[in-house]
Amino acid sequence: MLNSYLRRSLGQIRRVSDLSSKKWKLPAGHPTNVDVFNRLADDTVNLVTNFPNSCNWYCCGPTVYDSPHLGHACCYMQFDLIRRILEDVHGINVIMLMSITDIDDKIINEANKRASHFQEVALQYEQEFFDSMSKVNIKPPSLSLRVSQHIEDIIQFISKIINNGHGYVADDRSVYFSVDNFPRYGKLSPAQEPETAAGKQSNRDFALWKAAKPGEPYWDSPWGRGRPGWHIECSAMASKYFGSSVDIHTGGIDLLFPHHENEEAQSCAYHGCDQWVNYWLHSGHLHLQGQEKMSKSLKNTVSISTFLEEYSPDHLRTLCMLVPYRNGIEYSRDVMTNATSVYSKLNNFLSDCDAFIRGVGPKPIVNDGILLKELQRAQENIRNCLSSDFNTNGAMTDLLNLMSRTTSELNSRSEGLQNTSFSVIAIANYVKNLLGKLGFFANRQIADQSTQVDDILQASLNLRTSVRGLALSNSMPSESREVKKSLLTACDVFRSDLKNLGIEIKDRANASTWTFSTSRKQG
Ligand SMILES: [Zn+2]
Repeated sequence: MLNSYLRRSLGQIRRVSDLSSKKWKLPAGHPTNVDVFNRLADDTVNLVTNFPNSCNWYCCGPTVYDSPHLGHACCYMQFDLIRRILEDVHGINVIMLMSITDIDDKIINEANKRASHFQEVALQYEQEFFDSMSKVNIKPPSLSLRVSQHIEDIIQFISKIINNGHGYVADDRSVYFSVDNFPRYGKLSPAQEPETAAGKQSNRDFALWKAAKPGEPYWDSPWGRGRPGWHIECSAMASKYFGSSVDIHTGGIDLLFPHHENEEAQSCAYHGCDQWVNYWLHSGHLHLQGQEKMSKSLKNTVSISTFLEEYSPDHLRTLCMLVPYRNGIEYSRDVMTNATSVYSKLNNFLSDCDAFIRGVGPKPIVNDGILLKELQRAQENIRNCLSSDFNTNGAMTDLLNLMSRTTSELNSRSEGLQNTSFSVIAIANYVKNLLGKLGFFANRQIADQSTQVDDILQASLNLRTSVRGLALSNSMPSESREVKKSLLTACDVFRSDLKNLGIEIKDRANASTWTFSTSRKQG
């Protein structure tokens, strides 16, 4: 299997080297088991990292001037899935840095509206951003970097770009990047309409340092009072920690131009290299049916808290898994109904396996040989999917196929076979572990840490089963009709109380089992 992988990788490396003279060069580093789409190679290529079994990843973070919405959650959820695939499926040590833009026109405007300091606004929304991401179980970055805490690094970065002959100081003491002086500009995106501004030598030039306007916050610099341009922040901060080569750099597709184009140009100008980022990954947008993009400016946002009133973080994760990360996601009632139904299938499957393993309900005789073959096939297919540009939707299809074949075996009545339950335990274990690695069942993992929770719940259910059995049996005298009714009502109230706590009871033929609810809004 390793040999076939190496053959595939070497073939690919040969193929890619044909392209390398153009926009992208295969890095001279350490091949991984993962292939990834690279827009500069216009192909899916092997992920080669700078250091063995390690991946440095810079992610453009939020500009903190307002509350995050579902569009942000989807974008960071897609990258969270990719990060977990690298870390927990492929065992790669991912070091993720995320920028926090805490000085910007929009933050200044918001602070002026409130008559408060810009950092007060920024801190409030930064906190809200990380709280919201945590609520949907998106892992925090290894390190988050505030622009306002890296001003000295940014000034040093700009000075070197000027010294290298790629930047100039304008009459108003702003500093611009000279695009005409940098032949490799435009490698990420086709030429676009440039922004015009007084003081620039060419319309295509962009600001590295913005001279302060009256009343604006500022820092002192060799060129006068001002603040960093947006693009330079990421180049300077990423270079401070990762140096002259970044393995992966991510952001929403709207950041491709001008933000990432400018980041790449100014970083290459600083480091004197042709390729700063080896793999640019862009996620598609979340948009409402028939609309372009969910954004504050279009006033069509859905807040994360509104979403969580109806759905769970795992529903959002399912939705993001069902769509390739590079595609946009159309948010509608129908797609959420589909995501909810897929997530219920996962939960019901694990609950049915659990009932089978515990011997609750009818006990069919399953064919271990058939099921273990299905498991092996699914494991290979899913691993291939998760190695091929993070094909989460393909992996989900294979997982659902494995579950459906297992369910049909559980429902069959094979005869003449010894029943060991081994294959069902193996499949349930695989499904649960895989979904856990992909970030599902965060609440369940907390409960799993305390095996007592499981035991206490099961003991309570056993008591309820006995009480219910007694109430439904004919052993009680008929004059106890009222007592029987009260006992059944108490059993129903117990079930309803647990449902409100997120635990669902399933009454089966001769016993009851429990599972975590699939929706927040139940009962
Ligand atoms: Zn950025």
